[in-house]
Amino acid sequence: MRPAIINPLFAESSSLEGVGPALVRQLDRLKIRRVVDLLWHLPVMAIDRVVTDRLDETLVGRPVVCTLTAERVEEGYGKRPLRVMASDRDGTVVELVWFGQTGAWAKRLMPIGEPKIVAGKLDRFGMSLRMSHPDVLMPAQAARLPVREPVYPLTEGLTNRRLGGLATTALKRVPALEEWVEPSVLTKHGWPGWGAAVRDAHSMAGGPETLSGARDRLAYDEILANQLALLLVRRDTRMRKGRALVGDGRLTGMLTARLPFSLTRAQQRVGSEIAGDMAQAAPMLRLLQGDVGSGKTLVALMAMLGAAEAGAQACLLAPTEILARQHAATLARLLEGMPVRLGILTGRDKGRGRKELLAALKTGELDILVGTHAIFQDEVAYHDLGLVVVDEQHRFGVAQRLMLAAKARATPHLLAMTATPIPRTLELTNFGEMDSSRLDELPPGRQPIETRVMGPERFGALVEGLERHVTGGGQAYWVCPMVNETEEGDEAAAEQRAVFLKARLGDLKVGLVHGRMKPAEKDAVMAAFSGGETKVLVATTVIEVGVDVPNATLMVVEAAERFGLAQLHQLRGRVGRGSEKSVCVLLRGAELSETARARLALMRETNDGFRIAEADLKLRGAGEILGTRQSGDAAFRLADPERVARFVAMAHDDARLLLDRDGGLEGPRGAAARVLLYLFEREAGVALLRSG
Ligand code: ADP
Ligand code: MG
Repeated sequence: MRPAIINPLFAESSSLEGVGPALVRQLDRLKIRRVVDLLWHLPVMAIDRVVTDRLDETLVGRPVVCTLTAERVEEGYGKRPLRVMASDRDGTVVELVWFGQTGAWAKRLMPIGEPKIVAGKLDRFGMSLRMSHPDVLMPAQAARLPVREPVYPLTEGLTNRRLGGLATTALKRVPALEEWVEPSVLTKHGWPGWGAAVRDAHSMAGGPETLSGARDRLAYDEILANQLALLLVRRDTRMRKGRALVGDGRLTGMLTARLPFSLTRAQQRVGSEIAGDMAQAAPMLRLLQGDVGSGKTLVALMAMLGAAEAGAQACLLAPTEILARQHAATLARLLEGMPVRLGILTGRDKGRGRKELLAALKTGELDILVGTHAIFQDEVAYHDLGLVVVDEQHRFGVAQRLMLAAKARATPHLLAMTATPIPRTLELTNFGEMDSSRLDELPPGRQPIETRVMGPERFGALVEGLERHVTGGGQAYWVCPMVNETEEGDEAAAEQRAVFLKARLGDLKVGLVHGRMKPAEKDAVMAAFSGGETKVLVATTVIEVGVDVPNATLMVVEAAERFGLAQLHQLRGRVGRGSEKSVCVLLRGAELSETARARLALMRETNDGFRIAEADLKLRGAGEILGTRQSGDAAFRLADPERVARFVAMAHDDARLLLDRDGGLEGPRGAAARVLLYLFEREAGVALLRSG
């Protein structure tokens, strides 16, 4: 259970004074649902308040405090606000406006002819200076006004003042917590305690060092919580009872003998790393990274056959229906004629076939099961599950892994595969609990993909090129960033593009697939394309992972500058799968920023996924690269990629040290660390402590 001391931080935002349903909705748009979300919603900059007795144009846009004298009051009506015309010392006039107030109210607040201290943001309205909803202050109140006004990320209808006020209220709930950071680390960096750090980060009142100290500290806390949780998961998995699976090479040997090629050195190396892990009783926890086309499927299959040789079952979990079917087809082809039984289970497999499959799984007749998360369902029982392979691991969370583990007699070995090359820093933050293997070599004879960047003026020529390509028997992907045209009407849209290309190439030659289609429809379209019936597949990013049609040697990515680099790299990996030379055309918009230009140039220059991933990490947030990770491993809220890079190794070591000294998190610092885990909602880690 969450420690009571931080419960007030997890109360709904509506529990804060003055927060009604309308405000709750606005806050919700900023993902602020609880008090703690307000604490993590940090200002992006600060503006210094100007204390002056003369207003002028140069102050527009800034918060000011000025002595003003009301001259005239104009009642508001309809949409027109109440206006008070007031002047500064020099007689410069400023309109003070309030919506929903009366003249009588204004005259009480600012009697005509009486100087008053007014504070608010100075704006321009038409020709005149204006302040909307300013505060009229007593001298003592004015003296207490902070000089610096933090500026928060906002949403429509929510003013900075309102949000700042709420943050101040939320800060009052910040409890005094015991320190979880190693004292020597605090001293070394000159960091404040957690409470002071939250306050400093919001007020932005201190100097630049105070502010960066506060921000660093908070980011470090979040990274530390993440590392602790991962280490707890790792320790928990390693301590579970697993089973040593030692194959006799009967099936793997049969497979390699039948392959028309030999395994790459990388495949052999990774294969023996995996076999070595599986031969231990402690469950394997290994992440296999390999660029698109590096041959991960084969490595996974060898591992699964190894499990089968040792008498256990294996399953392969795919993130989507399409990929599950494709994997099943690939494996079936590879295993043809071998004494191995393979089955597929997705949410769409129903009726008799499903019943028979479940029975075969339970009796142990079935050796390998491929499926989507349908294989987590309660009614799915294995005879003896020994190995779980998860494709595109980042889409599965820790919680799901634990669920799957519960399906086996002993904790199964886990092999997670990802085609997204993961920079080292992200490897620690996201997969810190795992060992990692890299397939850093492509099978020989691959033709490098040629990447070209084209401006919109080349569109006509590109479509003609596509027509020639198709007439010559080739197939092509055409990727668009969105499903429907947006209001601006200038968005590339898969649907519109498909209509356009059908008009040019003929209806029957063009297929369309996007994320909003039903799975059955999607499958039919994909099947038509991989069977060669349709020649051009217009698609959104649903084709990103895994789709394998070797005859497709041309890809066009429209509005390429809108995609992340890692994503473009993934997309590009859909071509270059056959012996023919492949081309990827990145069609860009008319106007490009310098960064966008540089990013596209990098894509043209290199095919090296790891290099692209490092560059992408620098340009975009870590969360975007890895997609949305599910429960237990949400992306960071406070720690930006730069801070993650700076602190993750240190946090990793600290977390290790803490667990070495106090494995049950029971000492004073351990107890503080538990609070930390709850504070950053990594409590899945705490749950493991208790069960272990
Ligand atoms: P990944 O899943 O890593 O993107 P795949 O496993 O789909 O890559 O392999 C891509 C293609 O390369 C497949 O057609 C596969 O049969 C082929 N392949 C795999 N290993 C080798 C190898 N050692 N030599 C030649 N081709 C290979
Ligand atoms: Mg693959």
